[in-house]
Amino acid sequence: MLVGVLALQGAFSAHQSALADCGASTRQVRVAGDLDGLDALVMPGGESTTMSRLLSTSGLFDPLAERIRDDLAVFGTCAGMILLARDVLDGRPDQRSFDAIDITVRRNGYGRQVDSFEADIDVPSLNSPFHAVFIRAPKVERIGPDITVLACHDGVPVLARQGRVFVASFHPELTPDPRLHSLFLQEV
Ligand code: GLN
Repeated sequence: MLVGVLALQGAFSAHQSALADCGASTRQVRVAGDLDGLDALVMPGGESTTMSRLLSTSGLFDPLAERIRDDLAVFGTCAGMILLARDVLDGRPDQRSFDAIDITVRRNGYGRQVDSFEADIDVPSLNSPFHAVFIRAPKVERIGPDITVLACHDGVPVLARQGRVFVASFHPELTPDPRLHSLFLQEV
């Protein structure tokens, strides 16, 4: 299985390690040709406004949007979740997203003053809690009817899917626990 990791900016190499721990081959994705032959793609955390700009200037946005429409399996974490969301609140006016999952997220929705926190979250499909690292995380403010919520923190969805599109508002690649990458790869 070949899994691309969007490598324009952000925490992409830690995702490659987690995917390798699950037995997947990985490829850094920077231009449209890098999408050829991928079975799945991870969009990492980082800065969604910068990634949006680089996706446009690299010419990658439109070919990637087409692959996602054609049912490419995608896992977006933190900024990656913002890029996949239908609606983004507190984004920059020129910020683009793929409208790949029917959720509304607010950038930095957990507050700027508390930039970062960690929490053990219950993921019903795992047999013990997952230690989640939230860094200037987006907050889910609305979910559409076709969304499956896979985990919540304080009543707010933090891990969800719609078909083959998975999103997490935290950074599963920053803890040495590949279970969520593995959960995603099971669906590929
Ligand atoms: N706040 C960042 C953004 O808007 C996301 C932070 C992250 O990915 N850790 O893109």
